[in-house]
Amino acid sequence: MQNQTIRGTDQSIHKQVENIKLYINGEFVKAKAGGLIENLNPFSNKVINQTSEGRAEDIKEAVAAAKEAFEKGPWGTMKIIERMKYIYRIADLIDEHSEELSYLESLDTGLPISQTKKMAGRSAENFRFYARMVEAKLHGDAYPVDGEYINYTIYQPLGPIGLITPWNAPFMLTTWKVAPALATGNTVVLKPAELSPLTANKLAELIDQAGVPKGVFNVVYGYGETAGAALVAHPDVRAISFTGETVTGSTIIKNAADSLKRTSMELGGKSPLIVFDDADFEKALDAAVWGIFSFNGERCTANSRVFLHKKIKDKFIDALKERVENIVIGDPLNPSTQLGPLIDKGHFEKVSSYIELAKQEGCDVFQGIVPAVFSKGNFLPPTLLLNAKNDMKVCQEEIFGPVMAVIEFETEEEVIQAANDVKYGLAGYVWTNDIKKGHRVAQAVDAGMIWVNSHNVRDLRIPFGGMKQSGIGREGGHYAFEFYTEPKVIHVAIGEIHIPQFGMKKKEN
Ligand code: NAD
Repeated sequence: MQNQTIRGTDQSIHKQVENIKLYINGEFVKAKAGGLIENLNPFSNKVINQTSEGRAEDIKEAVAAAKEAFEKGPWGTMKIIERMKYIYRIADLIDEHSEELSYLESLDTGLPISQTKKMAGRSAENFRFYARMVEAKLHGDAYPVDGEYINYTIYQPLGPIGLITPWNAPFMLTTWKVAPALATGNTVVLKPAELSPLTANKLAELIDQAGVPKGVFNVVYGYGETAGAALVAHPDVRAISFTGETVTGSTIIKNAADSLKRTSMELGGKSPLIVFDDADFEKALDAAVWGIFSFNGERCTANSRVFLHKKIKDKFIDALKERVENIVIGDPLNPSTQLGPLIDKGHFEKVSSYIELAKQEGCDVFQGIVPAVFSKGNFLPPTLLLNAKNDMKVCQEEIFGPVMAVIEFETEEEVIQAANDVKYGLAGYVWTNDIKKGHRVAQAVDAGMIWVNSHNVRDLRIPFGGMKQSGIGREGGHYAFEFYTEPKVIHVAIGEIHIPQFGMKKKEN
């Protein structure tokens, strides 16, 4: 076991982080093949810790534990009030450890700590919300039929569920899935992204501490092509909830087809933010800047395409440039940092290559400056791609970094057409003080979620998800029940009913 102390350039000494084991059947265990994944700090590119690398044989064991816990353990037969006590306890433990969770998340992902602190709070709320939802809303309907029948529905858990999560806001996105999956009575095998294991491990510790029965929640780290694919292929896994890239989602759907698994897909985006000339200029500016540069631009709902009306374009761009120059770039653990480093070198190279492409495609690139002292981190400055055209590759493909393409428009029809001329359909933002136009455009833009005169704020009750290549299905609210439960209808005869009498001998007269 090798633990390290890592120094930030403008930070005091970082705390030590333990090496991480898989969590299977209530035990923290090493991967069977003994492989390790080196986990790097995006700020320093030094090793934070080593993570056990699970493979198919570990997935097999975790699924067996989840199956056993579902079929024979107390979870499936527990009274709802008892099960919810565990869910509330997990929420309380998250709150109690929120400082540590936000610290680990920032260390692991490079997300600024001021932002990960908010995510930790919201993650606890995800558990409380689903406890309340199950208590109040997970009920069936009754269908009385002419005094002859009473038909009623019940919603039953599916069994072992596979959850596969990305690295961009790992703890929050993981709890969006774990909370409804467990609250509705399923058991879980989680496969976190290989680049961000720290908060998944902390969640396993907290769930263990909450006394959740063994096998109900399991975590197997590992690569997508090995551990992830084995989870998708496993015949005893009843459903896969996935958040990640569109291409990965498509592969998972194909692989899940062999065992006819239910899948939920939360995928990529290239969301438009449209500013009309009658919009509240300052608020639209705040939203446009926050929406692409928070979470280091690694946000699925980021407004990576900003459409500006011709009349306000120049003024808006001047204001954008000023903001870009003043965004505070720094150590993610520093509370005043607004933009941290990208998750890893590979992603940094990918985002950088899009900036080169933007130049080749004819954009004027305007960037902030990364202080030289941060040269060891994967820092990409906040970037504007000016004079962009919607059909450029940089406007069609998800870059997933702090890069905003700025596109001019003149008419409502033109901007709706351009906003929709993309394969994605996750989110959209409309800024106008004309209420009719706001609704009209919001209804016309292809996106699962649209905000009018607002930045991206999430109400846990709403259906979260995308259309087109941004996803299939919805998370959130009671919509998650459609995925995590099986509706069953029970028909009961309560009156004298007539049943056709096949094979009955005719009575002789
Ligand atoms: P990714 O697709 O590379 O990886 C996501 C997860 O899938 C990881 O755990 C990975 O190991 C696993 N995986 C990879 N190949 C697999 C396979 N063949 N079988 C099973 N699992 C496999 O995504 P990422 O780079 O980690 O995350 C960024 C992406 O996630 C972006 O495209 C972003 O838009 C998207 N995202 C979407 C939402 C949403 O709600 N729509 C939210 C956050 C992130």
